[in-house]
Amino acid sequence: MNRTFYTPSIPRRDFLVGSLAGAGALALGTQITTRTATASTAAPNLMSSTQTAPFSLPNLPYADTALEPVMSARTFSFHYSKHHKAYVDNLNGLVKDNAELSALSLDALIKKVAGDASKAGVFNNAAQVWNHTFFWNSMKPGGGGKPTGRIADKINASFGDFDKFKTAFSDAAKTQFGSGWAWLIEDGGKLAIVKTPNAETPMAQGKKCLITLDVWEHAYYLDFQNRRPDYITAFLDKLVNWEFAEKNLG
Ligand code: FE
Repeated sequence: MNRTFYTPSIPRRDFLVGSLAGAGALALGTQITTRTATASTAAPNLMSSTQTAPFSLPNLPYADTALEPVMSARTFSFHYSKHHKAYVDNLNGLVKDNAELSALSLDALIKKVAGDASKAGVFNNAAQVWNHTFFWNSMKPGGGGKPTGRIADKINASFGDFDKFKTAFSDAAKTQFGSGWAWLIEDGGKLAIVKTPNAETPMAQGKKCLITLDVWEHAYYLDFQNRRPDYITAFLDKLVNWEFAEKNLG
C-alpha cells in the first residue's frame, strides 16, 4: 500500500509523521491511537519530505471520537473521511498526468501553483489537504483554555493579554464571510491573526502558521448548526492545542 504522509512544514522537530508499511499516524510527542493505526514516536519525520503524488489521507492524531462531546464523532468522521479525503482524491486526479506537479511535495506544490489562475483547482485541493491536516493537529482532547510557557508570552507580547487574543481570534473567525479559515501566525517575530477565504492559506505566502480553525460550515453544522460563534468558543475553550502552537514557533 502506498502511504504518503504529508504535513505542514512548520513544526519540524516534534511533529512526527509515521509512515509504517501500511500503518502510521501523525504523532505529537506521545503515542497516539487512531481508529486504524498506532503511531510511533520513532516514526520518521516526513515534514518537509520529498514525498510526491499520489498522496494519501493522513491518519488522525487521535481517534475520531476523541474530541467528543465538543466535536462529535459524526462531525469529525464526515469531515475527515469525506471532505478531507475528497481533497486528497481530487488532488491526485488533477496532478496524475502532470509530470512537473507530480514531482513536487505537497508544500512545494501549493507554493508553486498559488496565484496561478490556470491551476486554481490544484491549489484549492492541495491547500485544503494541507489546511485540514494542520487543523486536526491544532486540536487535542482536553485542549483549550489559557496557554502557558513561550506561546503564552508571545500572545501577551503581541496582543496585550490572552483575553484580547481571544477576542481578536474570535472576531476573525466570526467575520470570515462564507467559507474559510482563521489563523494564528507568526510574522516578523510577532504573532498575528489572519482570516482566509475558501482554501487560501498563509503557508502559501511563506508565513509560519501556529494554529488554525476551519470555519467552513461542514466543520460545525452538525453540532452547532448556524451558531458559528459557539463553535469558535468551544474551539478556544476546549480544543485548541497550545503545545502544537508552541512547537510551530520553532
Ligand atoms: Fe473543512
